[in-house]
Amino acid sequence: MLDDPGLYGPRRPLPLRVRPVPGESTGSFVNRLAHANGLSLAAFLDRVGQGEASAYTERVEKYPQSTEMYMNEAGLRYLAVLADRAAGLLQQDLPSLGAEHLLPGEEAAQWWWRWEPVAGHLVRYCPLCGDDLGVGEAVSLMSTDSWQVCLRHGYWSDDSRGRGPDCVPLAELPETLTAHRVRQQLAKQWGPAGEELFADAFQVAVY
Ligand SMILES: [Zn+2]
Repeated sequence: MLDDPGLYGPRRPLPLRVRPVPGESTGSFVNRLAHANGLSLAAFLDRVGQGEASAYTERVEKYPQSTEMYMNEAGLRYLAVLADRAAGLLQQDLPSLGAEHLLPGEEAAQWWWRWEPVAGHLVRYCPLCGDDLGVGEAVSLMSTDSWQVCLRHGYWSDDSRGRGPDCVPLAELPETLTAHRVRQQLAKQWGPAGEELFADAFQVAVY
């Protein structure tokens, strides 16, 4: 019976559920799920499986905006039980749980914190959008761009890891909002070519 890896897995969901924000980083979601249930990140991770970064959980907890969590299939199954959400649904919302990013290794649950995400950028989610969803704490996204603009609230955020503010209000920089709208229109109209057109225009403006 001790050979049965299922023995070590969680049996029941945590009492309080947390909804993932579409595009959220796994680390951000796991952090919120732990905190919602009154657990430190370290206590939570003990339930998800074994991780090579266990030595610096404290750092991970302190800087969730700077690191991303990856896991293998068994780790994903554990997380699905704890979060009370089907693994497939978690994979839909959390890009780093995509099949292409799952760690190898079948038997025991594994998780791994990387200081640089494998793909994409860790960018802070607009705090006002977070308030609208009632998330209660900072959310990090795994973004394909190294920045995000919230047109609804006029906020800019990026993947800089300095001590500055996580988000910058764009009230005094309406040009940025206009440029972002134009970029979205180009992308909608021309697909990837639109993105490239905008990138070209950006390079021309820089030089
Ligand atoms: Zn917003």
